[in-house]
Amino acid sequence: MTTFRATILTLYPEMFPGHLGFSLSGKAMERGDWSLDTVQIRDFAEDKHRTVDDTPAGGGAGMVLKPDILAKAIDSVAADTRPRLLMSPRGRPLTQKRVRELADGEGVVIVCGRFEGIDQRVIDGRNLEEVSIGDYILSGGEPAALTVLDSVIRLLPGVMGNVHSGTNESFEHGLLEHPHYTRPQVFEGEEIPAVLTSGNHAAIEKWRLEKALRLTGERRPDLLTDD
Ligand code: SAH
Repeated sequence: MTTFRATILTLYPEMFPGHLGFSLSGKAMERGDWSLDTVQIRDFAEDKHRTVDDTPAGGGAGMVLKPDILAKAIDSVAADTRPRLLMSPRGRPLTQKRVRELADGEGVVIVCGRFEGIDQRVIDGRNLEEVSIGDYILSGGEPAALTVLDSVIRLLPGVMGNVHSGTNESFEHGLLEHPHYTRPQVFEGEEIPAVLTSGNHAAIEKWRLEKALRLTGERRPDLLTDD
């Protein structure tokens, strides 16, 4: 099997692999199912203060990552066919569909923003695909990059113990997943729904589908109308 290669451009390389060094993703990394390398953007600064940011053109609060420094950092990553993502709240929201596409590829290059963001000319000039992990603002792209990687790595062949659990989750079939139960049979006076212990597989499937449809209708009706 080929190794899925992730390259992260960041001002905080010590944040990686973070939680991905634990549990299934950590074991998968040790096995060589995926690899991670980081590029310290600051290494490409040229002045003695190693400056990476500057004030926004047009005025306003905060700082902007300088295009010349970031472009050099990006260009230091060997040209290959891996998609180049930029973590950004303005990006297209990450979906399980995109996660699956990424997992089917050979890897990913991820740029983590900081400050107010990065100069638009690098986004355009280096063809960065802006990806958001949700409608809220983080202080930097690193937790977003870890989130993207987490969702991708668990889909790589051999990473999850049970091959089925990757394909029967929320979103995989356009629905939120049905509720789960396990022993004890009675917990705080509440029984496991009888159908789940009936042994009737057709009835169990029907129950699960009904629950999934109801939950999705209540919480995420948008999923039922999307393509
Ligand atoms: N001023 C920007 C937010 C900057 S937040 C704006 O309003 O759009 C600083 C960095 O955190 C961003 O460059 C991005 O890399 C990261 N970030 C913040 N929220 C994010 C989100 N929801 N998804 C992905 N990355 C995010």
